[in-house]
Amino acid sequence: MAEKLQKLVVVTPARLTFSDEVRMVVVRGVEGELGILPDHAPLITRLVTDVVRIQKDGSWRVMAVSNGFLEVKNNQVTILADAAELAEEIDLERARRAKERAEERLKARPPDLDVVRAEAALRRALARLKAVELAQRYRGAR
Ligand code: ATP
Repeated sequence: MAEKLQKLVVVTPARLTFSDEVRMVVVRGVEGELGILPDHAPLITRLVTDVVRIQKDGSWRVMAVSNGFLEVKNNQVTILADAAELAEEIDLERARRAKERAEERLKARPPDLDVVRAEAALRRALARLKAVELAQRYRGAR
């Protein structure tokens, strides 16, 4: 029997990043990791900047999602986020540079440093690097 699916839609101000039927969505909400299967109860939660893992037909795709909200309703998972990229869309060198820049700023602590902003930039870069690494691991496991 075909496995039951649910719709996943990921939207950012820039674009519709993802829209497809999937089996499971694993996110990190502010209260911890959450795996969402079809027919999940309605839910709204804030997401931590991190990876989102998507399972379908036994294989996994990975996204980096920055500053998002998640809603589950009527067998549809909707993620609204400031930025979201599938692992294969991520420019690894750019993410590495962003990580280094943020780390250097946080280490040097110039008096005008916007710490919250620098920390958020670091978290975005780390999520992107993690998404690429996880996607490689899933590909290797296939
Ligand atoms: P950078 O300092 O490299 O611009 P950032 O974290 O400040 O990184 P964001 O403001 O989060 O970037 O994103 C701006 C746009 O660029 C978004 O559309 C986001 O999806 C995209 N983006 C950011 N970093 C990458 C990356 N490493 N690979 C692909 N797209 C990226």
